[in-house]
Amino acid sequence: MTDIVEATVPLVTVRGLSVEFATQEGTVRAVDDVSFTAGAGEIIGLVGESASGKSTLGLSLLRAVPAPGRTSAEELRLEDRDLLGLSETELRTVRSAEIALVVQDALATMNPVTTIGEQITRILRDHAVPGTRREHRERAIRALGEVRLPDPEDVMRRYPHELSGGMQQRVAIAQGLILEPKLIIADEPTTALDVTVQAQILALLKSIAATHGTSIIFVTHDLATVAEIGDRVMVMYAGRIVESGPVKDVFRSPEHPYTRALLASLLPLGGEPPARLDAIPGQPPRPGSWPTGCRFSPRCPLYRAKGEPEQCRTHDPRARGDGSHWAACHFATEEESE
Ligand code: SF4
Repeated sequence: MTDIVEATVPLVTVRGLSVEFATQEGTVRAVDDVSFTAGAGEIIGLVGESASGKSTLGLSLLRAVPAPGRTSAEELRLEDRDLLGLSETELRTVRSAEIALVVQDALATMNPVTTIGEQITRILRDHAVPGTRREHRERAIRALGEVRLPDPEDVMRRYPHELSGGMQQRVAIAQGLILEPKLIIADEPTTALDVTVQAQILALLKSIAATHGTSIIFVTHDLATVAEIGDRVMVMYAGRIVESGPVKDVFRSPEHPYTRALLASLLPLGGEPPARLDAIPGQPPRPGSWPTGCRFSPRCPLYRAKGEPEQCRTHDPRARGDGSHWAACHFATEEESE
C-alpha cells in the first residue's frame, strides 16, 4: 500500500481504496490501493495518462462508479462521515450537496429544453433548500454572478445551447457550487476550452477554494494545468499513485522516472524549450494487463539505464521519501544518467 499523505486538517480521508470491474475475462482492477487525504481549501492535481485510473478514482470518491464497477476501501470519509456505509438514498443527498462533480462536457450534463434559471433553482427544490421561489431565484443569480458570468439575470433566461463553451462551463461550476459542497471533483473541466477561457476557469476555481474553503480534486492529463492551480499533485500510473507531494517540490525535484518523463515532455509557457523533449515511449498498460513488479518498468528509462535490475520486474516498489513528498520507485531520486 502506498504511504498516506496527510493534510493538516483532513476533509477527505481515503485509505486502501480500490475499484474493480467484473468482466467476461474475470475481475479487472482499475484503481489499486490508493490512500491520501485532502484538506479544506486544498487543490490537489490528479495527473496521469489515459487509462491510469484517475477519472475512476474521482468517481469512486462520489461512490458513483457505474455498475459493474465495485469500490472498496479500508476508509473513505468526508470529515467524520463514512461514505462507504451510506445507502443509495443517503448518497444521492451527499452528491451535489456535499461533493460536486464538474466534468469536461458541461453541455451533456444540462437539459437542452430547460432554461438555466429553471435548472439551477430545481437543484435547490430537489434538495429541499428552504426558501420561496423568489429567494431561490435570487440565490441562483448570486451563484451565476459568483462564477463571473456577465449579466446573470440574462443567463437565467437562456437555454444551454445559447451559451458559449466557456459560459456553459461556468454555469456547470455554478450548479456545482449552489449547495456549497465541501469537495469538488473537477474532471478535465477546461480541456475543451480555449487557452484564455481555460485560464479564467482555473483562476475561478482557485478563488472558490480560497474563499469557500472548498477542497478541489482536479483530474487532468496536463501537468502544466496542475502547476497553475494545484497545491499538491498526485501522479497516477496503472491504477496507483506513484508520486505525491507539494506542487513546487514535485516540479523542482521529481523523484519518480514517470513524473520526470511527464515533466520533460512539457514545453515551458513563453520560455525556451527544454534541452530534451522526451515523449514517453510506449503505451500505459490497460487495467488487467499490468506487468508484475513495477508497472512502469517496460517504459522506464532509469530501469534501462541501470541494466534492467531484477527487483524492478519482481518487486512492487514501496513509497520512498518523507511524509509530504514521496515516490514509489526502488531508486527514487536517482537520475537516468546514473
Ligand atoms: S522501480 Fe524500477 S522500473 Fe519502476 S520506476 Fe523505479 S527504476 Fe523504473
